[in-house]
Amino acid sequence: VPVEKIALITGANKGIGYEIARQLGERGHTVLVGARDETRGRQAVDSLVAQGIVAVPLRLDVTDPASISAAAAEIEQRYGRLDVLVNNAGIAGAANGAPSTVRADDLRQVYETNVLGVVSVTNAVLPLLRRAVAARVVNVSSHLGSLTLNSQWDSALAGVNLMAYQSSKTALNAITVGYAKELRGTPIKVNAASPGMVATDLNGHRGNRTPAEGAAIAVRLALLDEAGPSGCCLSADGVVPW
Ligand code: NDP
Repeated sequence: VPVEKIALITGANKGIGYEIARQLGERGHTVLVGARDETRGRQAVDSLVAQGIVAVPLRLDVTDPASISAAAAEIEQRYGRLDVLVNNAGIAGAANGAPSTVRADDLRQVYETNVLGVVSVTNAVLPLLRRAVAARVVNVSSHLGSLTLNSQWDSALAGVNLMAYQSSKTALNAITVGYAKELRGTPIKVNAASPGMVATDLNGHRGNRTPAEGAAIAVRLALLDEAGPSGCCLSADGVVPW
């Protein structure tokens, strides 16, 4: 009898994270809906439950150490393990332009969520991921973080220079590789997912893809079987160069 899988998705109250939760829920996972705001988390859970999904609210602000340890303790107490972690919570940042226009505080703010939040949450639940049969960690990254694409002056990214956001995703990519390296030889796989340009609040709904389309690659990486990669960045079109 297959055992139900427990999946935590950070920033799952809306956008791509909500869709990742919905799609994993549709595949029979119990989804822990991470949300920094309790009311928004509860509303998302109500909507998922109405669609027949086993969804549980989990208050989690990825920049707040107390909230992170409380969330990890709650997962441990309820389930004793975690099968899937999707680090999805992310922000674009208020001041998000070319390097000469960005202050250290602007960088710090974006990094707190997009970079440090991922490390803090991952390390808090790593003991629980180690107790799963074959855990999967998915970091929601972006083509915008690819050093390779950013340094090809004729690539589609040539005109984009959003220092705080882009370098945060570059750091996230490096962190993804670091975890994959440390966890080689264990059943845990760690990969990055690039959802493409998705219409959400993050970009003023300017994306050409729906949240459901953007979520699909993260869901695929969350469901990888043993033969799948670790330490890769994938989009719907295949491997994204670091
Ligand atoms: P949204 O703004 O729609 O959703 C972001 C989610 O992250 C919200 O649930 C938000 O919560 C949550 N969040 C923000 N800060 C925190 C925090 N400190 N703790 C917990 N949750 C937090 O954006 P998207 O769905 O577009 O973004 C999801 C991920 O996808 C991000 O990592 C983003 O960088 C990435 N991405 C998005 C792309 C796009 O085109 N949209 C392209 C490539 C990557 P709240 O509602 O409380 O603000």
